[in-house]
Amino acid sequence: MAPFSSITPIEYLKGVGPSRAEVLKSELNVHTFGDLLKHYPFRYIDRTQFHKIQQVHPDMPAAQVIGRLTHLEEIGERKGKRLVGHFKDDTGIMELVWFQSISWLKKSLKVGAAYVIYGRPSVFNNQLSMTHPEMELYHPGVKQAGNMSLQPVYNSTEKLKKFTLDSRGIQKLQVALLESIAHQLQEALPDYLLHEHRLMPLPSALVAIHFPRDQQELAQAIHRLKFDELFFIQLKLLKNKLLNTHKFKGHHFDVVGNRFNTFYNEHLPFSLTNAQKRVIKEIRKDTASGAQLNRLVQGDVGSGKTVVALMSMLLAVDNGFQACLMAPTEILAQQHYHSIKKLLGEGIASVQLLTGSVAKKDRRIIHTQLEDGTLDILVGTHALIEDTVRFKNLGFVVIDEQHRFGVEQRAKLWRKNSTPPHMLVMTATPIPRTLAMTLYGDLDISVIDELPAGRKPIKTLHLYESSRLRMFGFMKEEITKGRQVYIVYPLIKESEKIDLLYLEAGLETLMNEFPLPQYRISIVHGKMPVKDKEFEMQRFVKGETQIMVATTVIEVGVDVPNASVMVIENAERFGLSQLHQLRGRVGRGAEQSYCILMSGSKLSKESKLRLETMVRTNDGFEIAEVDLQLRGPGDIAGTQQSGVLDLKLADLTTDQALLTEVRNSVIGIFEADGQLAKPENARLREYLTEREPTVAWEKIS
Ligand code: ADP
Ligand code: MG
Repeated sequence: MAPFSSITPIEYLKGVGPSRAEVLKSELNVHTFGDLLKHYPFRYIDRTQFHKIQQVHPDMPAAQVIGRLTHLEEIGERKGKRLVGHFKDDTGIMELVWFQSISWLKKSLKVGAAYVIYGRPSVFNNQLSMTHPEMELYHPGVKQAGNMSLQPVYNSTEKLKKFTLDSRGIQKLQVALLESIAHQLQEALPDYLLHEHRLMPLPSALVAIHFPRDQQELAQAIHRLKFDELFFIQLKLLKNKLLNTHKFKGHHFDVVGNRFNTFYNEHLPFSLTNAQKRVIKEIRKDTASGAQLNRLVQGDVGSGKTVVALMSMLLAVDNGFQACLMAPTEILAQQHYHSIKKLLGEGIASVQLLTGSVAKKDRRIIHTQLEDGTLDILVGTHALIEDTVRFKNLGFVVIDEQHRFGVEQRAKLWRKNSTPPHMLVMTATPIPRTLAMTLYGDLDISVIDELPAGRKPIKTLHLYESSRLRMFGFMKEEITKGRQVYIVYPLIKESEKIDLLYLEAGLETLMNEFPLPQYRISIVHGKMPVKDKEFEMQRFVKGETQIMVATTVIEVGVDVPNASVMVIENAERFGLSQLHQLRGRVGRGAEQSYCILMSGSKLSKESKLRLETMVRTNDGFEIAEVDLQLRGPGDIAGTQQSGVLDLKLADLTTDQALLTEVRNSVIGIFEADGQLAKPENARLREYLTEREPTVAWEKIS
């Protein structure tokens, strides 16, 4: 499409003007010609079908009938005033009713003439009828304007309707729009792609999606436009990826050295799973390639990402570099720090923890050690990215639960060395493959798709309030066996007061049910000072308390292998991925673990499906797929920046095959012509130079 007309303000379209332009902007976010063109119909009325009156019944959403108007009469008074017509074909009779525009209709409708009528049938006083049908004089043999085969239906709103911009009104605007710009519409893809993928040309597709001649043409148009939506996202993402590997030289890790080997051979308390080994190999290969590593590691909760991170960092240290690990919360950073210290033992590498609550004088020591290079590994929160934190030679960065960090925060880490460090991002929130391809298309993706051996799948139960005593009994049994229990209350960000109410109300019952000195309870919630939180956490970790009552602050990462029961209160208030994360806090030891979902008895359909899914499966990827279907991509972290939300036609849950086709095609294009320099790729080159701002941090993920 020629850029000029696509960005032409909508008020310049014939039939729009300033006041209609305002509502189009405010109600539909349509600001330009291009926006209106992309306001696609959301469904189509099939006008190829005709019905006999005998076949028409009130359950039909709409019916189209050819017949004769035999009678027209105005009846009723004032508000009850209406125009009633009799409409007959050779099988029966129906009533037509109008409440508005009566005098105009009385003048224009011809009693005795044949009409094609279209509308929604209903039954009133035992009489089949149609209110405000569309009427068009019937001319046998002539193609009717009104019965164009598929009539577009557009989203509209009450406010738009006040400006006569109902579906019909918008359709008229589309006609005006296409009349004014159809001749300027241009192809966006190279011709060879149209042939390869049998795509309808873009100008035809844009016309056909608004005014399809038949179902087949419509399907082709939709296919073509979906293709474009996915194609251009992939084009941008993969171009970035290419820039990363070509432009950004990475630190070369030549050796697998002493520290890595000593750790692997002498300190590692278990053998790695095959998946862990594979991912470490992938990281090893990247870091030996001379290019910068940009890799996402996806691994379900408990799959053992920490040790993968640690071994990658040792690889860096072996090659004379420093490494850091950044976690989104203080508790998590502490947890990582402690487990890394424990895994490493003495003498392999120096590790420090840097968070907001580290005292000034300790912080100064850390700063000095970082700058003179005596510190090998730094673990911390976003305190790591402050400007005062300077490394001697940072070579490897691990970001845990990366979706909790913004792009800019990551970019700051990127700039902590003149040659940017390798970037490994880890997430325990599995993302469906399609979404990962769109969100993280510019990253390499590794998946740890295997849990360490000997883990028993967690048993999940859904209980109603009436079973609370049974649940308490079960908790006691487990505690008697020496196990520990989590009880989690919902956290609603907007209202921390309510959160505490939930927690406090629950706590009273709990204290009665689980009295001292036999039972000891830890409490952790977001309103507590960090020191107290840490203290309570540690009591639970050390086994001094048996019950941990918490809000979702414990959601990510916390690792207490002896905890075997996760009770989630008001489970219907949690999202699926959150429930799955919470469940992942148990099942980390050798014991059978349980997750108990407590809920009220009144559940929405969606809540029910969420809880059922949790009970049915432990597979994070399966859960993520259901989550995507339930919520759409909009609520999934990271989608805002990705362009996924601009998808109007493509659907990541149903268009997986198309996405794969598109992605492979884009990969092929860059393989054949990395700079898009060949003449046949001119349109793509243009697209990228026109739209891509030259912001460096865009290339960092
Ligand atoms: P997550 O992927 O959720 O971050 P962690 O790295 O915290 O998982 O690992 C979960 C637990 O499993 C930890 O106690 C860790 O020591 C242990 N673990 C990791 N890898 C293995 C393995 N290959 N075999 C046995 N236990 C392992
Ligand atoms: Mg973890």
